[in-house]
Order: sequence, then C-alpha cells, then structure tokens
Amino acid sequence: MTTALLSAIPAAELLTDAAQTDLFRHDVYATGPAPVGVFRPATVESLAAGIGAATREGVAIVPRGGGMSYTGGYLGPDRPFLLVDTSALTQIVEINETDMTVTVECGITWKDLAAVLRPKGLRVKSWGTLSGISATVGGGMSQNGVFWGASGGSLVDAALSFDVVLADGTLLTTGSPFFRPYGPDLTGLFTADCGAFGVKARATLRLVREGAAFAYGSFAFETPEAVFGAMAAVGREGLAAECFGFDPFLQSQRMKRDSLASDVKSLANMMKAQGSVFKALKEGAKVALAGRSFLDDVPFSLHIIAERRRQNEADADMAEIVRIVEGLGGKAIENTIPKILRANSFPPVNSMVGPAGERWVPVHGFLPNSKLVEGWHAIQQLFADNGAEMAEHGVQTGALLAVVSPQASLIEPVFFWPEELNPLHRHAVEPGHLSKLKGFPANPASTALVARLRKDLIALFQRLGAIHVQVARTYPLKAAHHPEGWTALEALKAQLDPKGLMNPGVLGL
Ligand SMILES: Cc1cc2nc3c(=O)[nH]c(=O)nc-3n(C[C@H](O)[C@H](O)[C@H](O)COP(=O)(O)OP(=O)(O)OC[C@H]3O[C@@H](n4cnc5c(N)ncnc54)[C@H](O)[C@@H]3O)c2cc1C
Repeated sequence: MTTALLSAIPAAELLTDAAQTDLFRHDVYATGPAPVGVFRPATVESLAAGIGAATREGVAIVPRGGGMSYTGGYLGPDRPFLLVDTSALTQIVEINETDMTVTVECGITWKDLAAVLRPKGLRVKSWGTLSGISATVGGGMSQNGVFWGASGGSLVDAALSFDVVLADGTLLTTGSPFFRPYGPDLTGLFTADCGAFGVKARATLRLVREGAAFAYGSFAFETPEAVFGAMAAVGREGLAAECFGFDPFLQSQRMKRDSLASDVKSLANMMKAQGSVFKALKEGAKVALAGRSFLDDVPFSLHIIAERRRQNEADADMAEIVRIVEGLGGKAIENTIPKILRANSFPPVNSMVGPAGERWVPVHGFLPNSKLVEGWHAIQQLFADNGAEMAEHGVQTGALLAVVSPQASLIEPVFFWPEELNPLHRHAVEPGHLSKLKGFPANPASTALVARLRKDLIALFQRLGAIHVQVARTYPLKAAHHPEGWTALEALKAQLDPKGLMNPGVLGL
C-alpha cells in the first residue's frame, strides 16, 4: 500500500493484516492471490473516493459481495489489487410503494431485503438465490443467478437502474428508476459483468406483490426423459413460480444432511414468525407425519410452487400442473420439500459442503427445452467415461435441475469429493454444523481430478450451446460471442476502464 492510498482510505475501513485479509483470498471452490488490503467502505462516497485513489496509484480493484460464488469472480489477478468488500453498504435508500421500486445499497443481502419487504406484502421481482442469507444484491446483479421468482426471470431482470463507481472513481447512473430501457439498455450492459465495468454501489429494483396464496407439488419420475419433459411443459405453461428438481444422488445427499426434526422446526418457526401458531402446528404435524421415506427409491424428483393472490387460484394452477405432470409420467409424492424451502427461503449455507464435510462445487448450463435430454445424456456419458478414476478418488456427482423460463431450464451437475475445507467454508458454515462433520485431509489428487472434470464439463456445455451465469474467471465468454459483438464489449471495457484496473481478467476481458 502506498502512503497516498493509505491516507485516502479511512483506517477504520481498511484491513491490511494478513490474518484478517486471508479469508478474502478464498471463494467456495478455489484460492487466489492475497490483496494488498481489504477496503470495506461505510458509504458510497467513501467507496468512490477509495476506488479513485487506488487506481490513481495503479492498484487494481476487485469487488466482493457476500463471497458465495465459486467461479473466481473475486479471486484477484496476479498484480497488486485492493479487494472491495461491499458488506457495509446495506442501506435501504427508498421503498417506493407508488412506483413499485426499491433502491438499496448493493451490499445488502437478499435475506435482509426480503425481511423488510415481506411485512409490506412486497418482494423484488426475482428475489434472490438460496445463498441469500449471505449473497448480496450487488453480487446477484453482477453475476446473475436464478432461484426465487425464477418464473419472473433471472436476478438481473429485476434491475431498473444502477449507480456504478467506475475505475477512476466517477459515479455513473444507468437508465431510469422506473422503466427499462430508454433507448439502448445501459443498465443491461452493467448486469452480469462480474464487476468488469465498475463496482455497483446502489441498485433500483422492480417490486411485485408478495404471493398471498401458495400451492405445492412434488413428483417422482422414473427417467430423465420424463422429468425433462415435465420441466419443459411446466415452463411453457408459466404456471409455477418455482420448479426445481434433484437427481437421485443429490436427493440422497440432502436427506443425509438435514433431519426430519430440522424440517419440522424450520417450517414451524417460520410460520410462527409469520404470526400463525395454529398453521405452524398443523403444517409441522403434516410434515412430521409425511416423514422422509417418500423420497426413498425415487429416481428423479421435481418440486413446484404455485403462487397467486387467492388460494383458489393457486390451487387451480396446481391442479393444472398435476394434470400436465402426471400426463408426462410424474407421480405425486409428499410436498414437504417445496413447502419447507419456501417457508425458510434463505437457509444457512451449510450445503456448501457435503454431508460428511466433503468439498462441493456446482457447474451449470442453461439449455433450451429441445436440448435438455441430449444434454443430460452427454453429461452422464462424460461421468461414465471417467467412472473408474472418479471411484478411485472418491469423486461423486449429483445434479440440481430448475425451470427458468418457457424457453429453457438449468442443469447443474455438482461435484462432491474428499478434500479439506478452506477458511471461507469454516467461516460461512454454521459452527454447530461444522463441528459434526467428519472432514477430510488435504487431497490434491482428488481435487485435480475435479478440476479436470469441471473443465471437461464446461467444454461439453459449450458444445451443446449452453448459456451460463457466474461467468467470472471460469466460463468462456469470447468464444460464444459473434466477433463484432465481442469487439463492442472490449471497446466498452476500454472506455470505462482504460487502464484495465477494474477486476482485470473477469469475463475474459
Ligand atoms: C449454498 C449456496 C447456494 C447457492 N444457491 C444459488 C442459487 O440458488 N442460485 C444461484 O444462481 N446461485 C447460487 N449460489 C451461487 C452464489 O451464491 C450466487 O451466484 C450469488 O449471487 C453470489 O452473490 P455474492 O454477493 O456472494 O457475490 P460474490 O461471490 O461476492 O461475487 C460474485 C461476483 O460479483 C462481483 N461483485 C460482487 N459485488 C459486486 C458489486 N457491488 N459490484 C460489482 N461487482 C460485484 C464479484 O467481483 C464477483 O465477480 C449458491 C452458492 C452457495 C454457496
């Protein structure tokens, strides 16, 4: 750190001690170089001043939200960089119930934002990821993602406007706070940029009414053809707020990790917090009675939530979903899983490690409905071709599936392997959960195999023409672009960040 930089950043907002900065070198998957310091601005003004001061000194900027990603987005480059930790920028600037918008500082977590909006009967259009207890609005807007409200689009579809701090410390406001776009979509250009174009300081997001009535359905399927057929059909009809599924392996992992007691407790707590003790008891009893055996021997499962203003509408949507899904080979099972997840939408991030403390990393691709079955079989073939080596090194795989639009669904294979945990896991996983894990010693051979399979899987997704969120330093973007399109992105990067100091290397820029 130069003296000029040290004097530009308030001492209370800067960590330089290696013991304190070490955590920020690790994402959920990998470890990167150490930053010269961790800058945790308390205000947007301080954020802008600090970024300007750093780049004037030739120090690069790497933004970090909740640190819940695994694609190297905030693992710095091999040059001096200041890691900007946005976690103190958590103000809700305005909830505008007339225009149905909310303006927040980007370090706020999805969970904290939902907690403030829910009592007002509101939520953001796409309202977060399962990691939302820690993951931030800024991370979601910069990396994109899908889960809650996926039928309304991916996370960035909620964005109307951003205040972005550019590499030289200038604050740029994109678009309009109530309509997008006005001419070319400037807000859109800053979405999913992984911080390549600047650090998002504030975001204005679209609000919608929170669902008032819900219906839940869970279904078992014998074959991948049946489950993907049902996902595509549910997506096309647009009747589900969320529709996600597990392959047999992932299902068994989930069952090993959480107990029935914790299911009942989390459901009951949530319902009580929402003010209905009677409903909490009733739903808790139902979940307990259903037990967990309903998922034994189920090859694939799909879990669906219908969300509407009135109960009869939600029930009618679910009746139609049941008709469609059963017609395609699905068999209704207990609907405990979607009910519990919706009641506790942002659970602790304990699932970032396996049930015995294995390492965990997902790889994903969005494929059009027409390619889901072909994609699934190609992935299984890749794993079969490497089966002997995977067995030797204890590498196991499961898959999460999710409908994201009438056009496309997500296939997210997940690796589990025996390897020691890193400081981020030890920081993020609940201490009580951590203490129960068996854990594993360092295992470079298994980790190297996962790294190779992860690359092979990404190459396979590219051959299938898949689209990715969380591009960061992991998914190849240039190859998927038309050359002229890529040149335009490079020109924009050069305009916004002429010295190449804003998260250098992300997106391959
Ligand atoms: C247990 C678990 C569950 C998950 N569930 C989901 C899920 O349901 N759906 C899903 O899509 N993903 C999921 N993820 C992945 C991940 O949590 C999400 O991608 C999430 O959006 C990351 O947000 P974050 O705030 O932690 O961002 P970070 O990991 O801190 O950063 C992500 C990227 O955004 C950049 N960035 C962060 N903040 C800013 C900013 N203010 N301005 C500019 N750039 C910025 C960083 O440089 C980096 O490139 C999950 C991860 C875990 C561990």
